Amino acid sequence: MKKKLTLLFSLVLLLYPLSLIGQTPPEEFLGHKVGADRKLADYNQICEYFKKLDEESEKIKVLTIGKSTLEKPLIMAVITSEENMPNLDDYREITKKLRDARNLTEEEAVQLSKEGKIIVILTCNIHSTEIASSQMAMELAYDLVTGKTIFDSDKVLKDVIVLLVPSSNPDGEQMVTEWYRKYSGTRYEGGRMPWLYHHYAGHDDNRDWYMLNLPETKAITDVLYRDWIPQVHIDEHQMGSTGARLFLPPFMDPPTLTVHPLIWRGIALFGTNMAYELQKDRLSGIVYGRSFTGWWIGACDDTSWLHNSIGILSEMASVNIASPIYVDPTEIPSSYTEKRIHFPDPWTGGWWRLRDIVDYELTLSQSLIKTAYLHKDELLLNFYRMCKEAIEIRKEEDPFAFIIPRDQHDYPTALKMLDILMAGGVEIHQASEDFIADGKTYPSGSFVVLMSQPYRPYAQALLEKQKYPELRQYPGGPPIPPYDNAGWTLPLQMGVKCDRIDDTFKTPLKKVFKIIFSPITVPEEKPYMIIDCKTNASYSVIFDLMKSGAEIYRSKESITKKEFEGAYGSFIIKNSPEIQKILPDLLNKWHVVAYGLDDITDIPKNPLKRYRVGFYQSWKANMDEGWTRYVFDSMEIPFTTLHNRDFKGTKKNKVNLKKKFDVIVFADENADIIKSGKPSPNSPYARRYTEMPPQYEGGIGDEGIQALKSFVEQGGILVTLNNACGLVFKEFNVPARDALEKVKRNEFFCPSSILKIKVDNKTPIGYGMPDKAAALFSRSLGLSTWIPSGNWDRKVVASYPKENILLSGWLLGEDKIARKAAVVDTTYKKGHIILIGFRCQNRAQSHGTYKFLLNSLLYPEK
Ligand SMILES: [Zn+2]
Repeated sequence: MKKKLTLLFSLVLLLYPLSLIGQTPPEEFLGHKVGADRKLADYNQICEYFKKLDEESEKIKVLTIGKSTLEKPLIMAVITSEENMPNLDDYREITKKLRDARNLTEEEAVQLSKEGKIIVILTCNIHSTEIASSQMAMELAYDLVTGKTIFDSDKVLKDVIVLLVPSSNPDGEQMVTEWYRKYSGTRYEGGRMPWLYHHYAGHDDNRDWYMLNLPETKAITDVLYRDWIPQVHIDEHQMGSTGARLFLPPFMDPPTLTVHPLIWRGIALFGTNMAYELQKDRLSGIVYGRSFTGWWIGACDDTSWLHNSIGILSEMASVNIASPIYVDPTEIPSSYTEKRIHFPDPWTGGWWRLRDIVDYELTLSQSLIKTAYLHKDELLLNFYRMCKEAIEIRKEEDPFAFIIPRDQHDYPTALKMLDILMAGGVEIHQASEDFIADGKTYPSGSFVVLMSQPYRPYAQALLEKQKYPELRQYPGGPPIPPYDNAGWTLPLQMGVKCDRIDDTFKTPLKKVFKIIFSPITVPEEKPYMIIDCKTNASYSVIFDLMKSGAEIYRSKESITKKEFEGAYGSFIIKNSPEIQKILPDLLNKWHVVAYGLDDITDIPKNPLKRYRVGFYQSWKANMDEGWTRYVFDSMEIPFTTLHNRDFKGTKKNKVNLKKKFDVIVFADENADIIKSGKPSPNSPYARRYTEMPPQYEGGIGDEGIQALKSFVEQGGILVTLNNACGLVFKEFNVPARDALEKVKRNEFFCPSSILKIKVDNKTPIGYGMPDKAAALFSRSLGLSTWIPSGNWDRKVVASYPKENILLSGWLLGEDKIARKAAVVDTTYKKGHIILIGFRCQNRAQSHGTYKFLLNSLLYPEK
């Protein structure tokens, strides 16, 4: 029967033009209305639906633009008129031409703006629990191809190319839907998952848009700044449930300083038109200019601002995934009950459903397309003009270039930084001879980022130091925090030397099209080999060699030989036929240099044994755990994930962690959560705590603390990152505490900023570090230590200097952190507890301080 039907259908297909057959509405495909209570389409269904629509309409083409972390196809629909479809490549070429005024006159640009089409991209559901937009996307696509729109879609789609990404995080969409379905109808319906909704990043998948660690970010970045170059971009989100129904820009202060003013005006134009369109439909509760700042946080839509593209964020009030909620009028915060110019029509409470969100999002998405259509020519021309200004006009305060000198502490990491910049659309040059800039001589091979380039706002924002404006609630009052980070300067985070050059200079420069890591010469066969530990990648080589059972030492001093110098802690490897076999590939894979040695008797050294690493994962979906896991996986560091149950034995059979592990790491997490699974009742997180299914409740418990104590006593190494240090203050009597714990916010305030630290690189945890480095401080600690007694000892590895501590971002109350320790290596009986009081591997961005963590995993034996 089925076969016959298919045959019949194929015949119909042959006989009729596609447009006459009709397209399947999503509700018919899904068996329920989009956004119906307690109904969700999962990612597989969404892909199926888009595929079907692609087969049924000439106005939509579905592309796979990449693969997700867990290997799902990342799809994007291209929706435009039938006439435009065969010429998409030509239109993409036009936007590329408009970007580069070096090859285009104003007259040609005017002409191209008329010929070209405006490209609008809608990205949905990057945050998986903010699920409405992934559902809405199906209906939006259907409405666009069938003309059920607030505009004449035949006319509009002739001028607009719509790119629609139904989910920027396919894995998460699928996970959240499956979890929701599993617990639907139980007391946990609509509740949190115990794991991250992005394999590594969770909610931070929207903080990766300059580092491009994740395949999803990379794929969409290619669409945005390489393949399609849309001039308008919206990223659709959801926020809390009780305040406004919808946030639309304009954003609130402060703005990112390198963004072109026309971008802020364009954002306001689109935002206001969307609010206007919604208000016409009597959709209330829309606010602008609150909560969401114009200070870049490395998020998806705001990265567009820095590429001269209008980037918009929409934030709808949430429901419990797909379950409706009732908001009592008294539960609405008073600031959302009064009429204001930026909030003229407060929502008055009542039931709030998934479909409500879908309705708002359908209208605002269509409004966006309509505004793009109405201003098509000038939006294209203004894109050209902004890029032209970036190339031609340099104000006195603007830098001329940034130079990344050839001689670097960690050269492969410097190349990695350049590679990331290029992936974000930055143009890079390389000097072919020695040259002088700002009175300093740079060697041939140094890299130069000239600020005269189309994406100057982006290049400059990443390379320069941020100075966050001093915003207070009232003069002398508490600081107004940024939405996320205040400082992010990439060279500081990655430990890469980079000089800002204000004066012009001239030297022969070659444009770099691809970052080439030079091939490694494998040293001639000698009894020993030495690898300097200044490069992060050297640790990956060592972990790999350890798998092959290599005999490895760390030097206790710096090594100076004829051909090389090695820092304290350099790796010495005993050669063998097996090692000789794997070494060339290994060195080339990680771009690490090794040297041969005949004799090592004169080098003081300690042996390294193969460490077994255990890494704690709570059931609280901790993003820092995810990013740390990312660092381990990307550096190929073997580890075992530990859950609460692994810290619990039976009465007869107590758990012995030392039997299985040598190092146990706790990522940044509140100590109460680690111990009990719950924040302490007076913590600000207590209110947001929700019940979980019983197997995910609780923490490592008293038993876990005891097990960790005995682990350290037996010689184990316990590593606590950032707030996890709280665990050892409370439970271990470690001779250190957080001196900032009780300091008030208007006395000390440092929202995600970069601070200067001094490092003792002659001690194992500081090995391979420069003596001055940059620490990413984010809800971090200022450690004070004291002269210990009994079984304890302590070594301050890194500390904040006396003054001039801020490198990038915002720091109030410098004196409170001055001379405090940042990293402390404490000894207890045979083992160590390492306290790293800042985010040394923050979001897999702060490569410059990875070594504190890596050294904790490769602590040499005595
Ligand atoms: Zn969001």
